[in-house]
Amino acid sequence: MNRHRNKQHDTARQTLIPGAGKADIHTHTNASDGKPSPMELLKHVEEKTDLDVIAVTDHDTTTGALEAQKLHEQGDYRFDLIVGQEVTSRAGHIIALFIEKPIPKERSAEETVRLIHEQGGLAIAAHPLLTLKHIDPDMLTADGVGVDTLMSIQFDGVEIINGSPLMKDENTRTRMLNRTVIFRAETGGSDAHIKEAVGKGYTLFPGRTAQDFRKAVEQKTTEAVSTTYRARELLKYVRFFGKMKIREFGKKAFGKIRKVRPRTAKS
Ligand SMILES: [Zn+2]
Ligand SMILES: [Zn+2]
Repeated sequence: MNRHRNKQHDTARQTLIPGAGKADIHTHTNASDGKPSPMELLKHVEEKTDLDVIAVTDHDTTTGALEAQKLHEQGDYRFDLIVGQEVTSRAGHIIALFIEKPIPKERSAEETVRLIHEQGGLAIAAHPLLTLKHIDPDMLTADGVGVDTLMSIQFDGVEIINGSPLMKDENTRTRMLNRTVIFRAETGGSDAHIKEAVGKGYTLFPGRTAQDFRKAVEQKTTEAVSTTYRARELLKYVRFFGKMKIREFGKKAFGKIRKVRPRTAKS
């Protein structure tokens, strides 16, 4: 497969790293709240992108990532795969890369990072300045770790590009903060929940392999890049999140009905 056959809308690829490898280290599958199965994700990356490395980072599970790893080992893919997880710490989301076992959720950020390092993994602060609690109190755990945690904990990298739509302001503020105060390796990831979003945010690094990527994070030689969505890709995302909201609403409503039923039965 010709690795330069890039079908993505990729106008922003300007890099200081000659012949850089390209990694999307933040993706979701249907093992958490993403749409594609691990197989669908791998097929998409192989056929529709020019990514050299991809990490599967489902919310609080490695099931999808481990399944992807199994399929990847059995197949003949031209890209490398990293087993990861987006860990819900008490402070906010932390991406674990190069892990073998799941990291428990709802621990302090400090303990989460320690557990990731204990497995020999890398800890990346995901969308660190994202705060959703003022929009929806139920979404508290979708926040990033925030400035204080970012400054006090030894993260290996900071996601200065999160490829979700509407993240431009947070990304700009995170980049400024990292370049003036934090000085960690800069990473970019799509946070893709649908396959069309894969690569809408990626990390460039010297080399081509997952181990080259790892070395680049450790040596802080990475570069984060964002790409723009096409209108039809955005529309797919809006539809996906719309359906997810309806499902959540249904679950909440159904949950309430179920809770009420025994009482009405008794009366
Ligand atoms: Zn997140
Ligand atoms: Zn995510």
